[in-house]
Amino acid sequence: MFCSKCGTQLLDEANFCWKCGLPQKEGVVAEEPRYEACEISWRYTLPQPIFAIKKFQFVAVAIGPTGKRVVAETPLLSTGSARRACPPLASTDGRAAWDQSHEAVDAMIIALVADGWEYQGPFGDGRYWQKSFRRRVKQQTDKKA
Ligand SMILES: [Zn+2]
Repeated sequence: MFCSKCGTQLLDEANFCWKCGLPQKEGVVAEEPRYEACEISWRYTLPQPIFAIKKFQFVAVAIGPTGKRVVAETPLLSTGSARRACPPLASTDGRAAWDQSHEAVDAMIIALVADGWEYQGPFGDGRYWQKSFRRRVKQQTDKKA
């Protein structure tokens, strides 16, 4: 038989078109793929005294069916100076701190993608760490006999 939507050839007993997902039998409902979302933000690692050099880290926070959780975090980073923006916002905020922050974010992105997260684009103000991802939630198969 052929899919009535996309014309792909299917096995006669197919419940779904393997190509477009159209149900091929009555009473068969296509499972909506469900996604969990993930965004990279940052946090102070400890309460920061006002005039101290800031210590912080970038964190990847996922929101899914089981709630909110941190799925990745960078090592502790430093602004290198109490007067500089945290996180560094420009290379003028200390070249070393700027480079270190970018390397940490890039490494985190590589790790997230290796872990199955698909890059979705920037969010918020589009700062270099403000990247969003999604990942398909594995369906719990609880088929009833
Ligand atoms: Zn089809």
